[in-house]
Amino acid sequence: MEAIRLLGNEFGIYVHFPFCKKKCDYCDFNSYAGLDSLMSAYTVALIKEIERYLPQSRSVRTIYCGGGTPSYFITEFLIYILNYIREHFFLSRDQIETTLEINPGTINLQSLVELRNAGVNRLSIGLQATQDELLKRIGRVHTWDDFCFTYHLARDVGFNNIGLDLIFGLPGQTLTEWKETLAKVVNLSPNHISAYALQVESGTKLAAKVEAGEFILPSEDEVAAMMAYTMETLPLAGYEHYEISNYAKPGFRSEHNLNYWLGRDYLGFGAGAFSTFQGKRYCNLHHPQEYINALKYDQSLIVESEIIDEQLALKERLMLGLRLADGVNLNEFRRSLVPTSFGRLEREIDELVNLGLIRRFDNTIQLTTNAMMISNSIISRLLSVWS
Ligand code: SF4
Repeated sequence: MEAIRLLGNEFGIYVHFPFCKKKCDYCDFNSYAGLDSLMSAYTVALIKEIERYLPQSRSVRTIYCGGGTPSYFITEFLIYILNYIREHFFLSRDQIETTLEINPGTINLQSLVELRNAGVNRLSIGLQATQDELLKRIGRVHTWDDFCFTYHLARDVGFNNIGLDLIFGLPGQTLTEWKETLAKVVNLSPNHISAYALQVESGTKLAAKVEAGEFILPSEDEVAAMMAYTMETLPLAGYEHYEISNYAKPGFRSEHNLNYWLGRDYLGFGAGAFSTFQGKRYCNLHHPQEYINALKYDQSLIVESEIIDEQLALKERLMLGLRLADGVNLNEFRRSLVPTSFGRLEREIDELVNLGLIRRFDNTIQLTTNAMMISNSIISRLLSVWS
């Protein structure tokens, strides 16, 4: 098991940049094209939001700039925000992981150098597929060549921790194309690979095209074959399969995302950003203009919130922890559940062990490789103990 160095009082910071060059057809993230004129006011608003949490006695362990497309944001403003965070929060004694999501064709050499000098030490690049036809079909603005240019530029600048995001199950995608994508990606030797199955979200352009019969999605069996091939191939290429959809070369797991999956605290700044902090989870206003206005007039940003009580925290530990190869330690559940509920949980676990879907070593449970393909139904079954 890889050591997670996050200490009890440390937390992560997420900063959301909801601006994109163009909206991809499958995207239902809180991101917008055509709002570039708001970038300056958004920077001012972000600083004001951050100020609301100062002074803060706890230390920051990871910073993650996500989006949207943070690399499409004006570099000077991005660096101003990063510097502000680094100067106003205590930072962990270890070098903190600072990730920037970038999209091919939205960043140049000078910006990469400046961002590296400003402390960015990990890049997450949105590639999705290596076939230009597929990229076009899902509304991506870049080609495989654009990606290769950005990837090599980043390596030349000295980034030695680069993750790539891929999607399988794309409209019309074949298993052969997916195998080709993985082969080309492995050949580049990125430090981290995320491979998610496409979710067609209602309200997106892609959903309309699928509904109109313009695009045919791969069948469930074809998608399962793509996932199985991924789980088989990437470990053989030296990647640890440490979370259902995430693979890393040894020492390159995403610390920031592990922080989420382990239920640790993080503060999310920006439009639509979620925070889980000191026993509460809450979400900011979604639209960048509303977010800017609320900060300008000193109003509340929060649109949704919930208290994370002990039982909710336990359920989330189970739900997220089972996605991790390291699994979940049951000691906490034994301590916090009433004996009858813990007994029910153990009975469900025993049945899943007998079905070959869960492995148990002493007090730790893990999903087996077969079970990862149907993780949602297994997790729901275990969560039924709370109903
Ligand atoms: S680049 Fe990312 S955030 Fe922006 S529209 Fe495409 S998928 Fe959505």
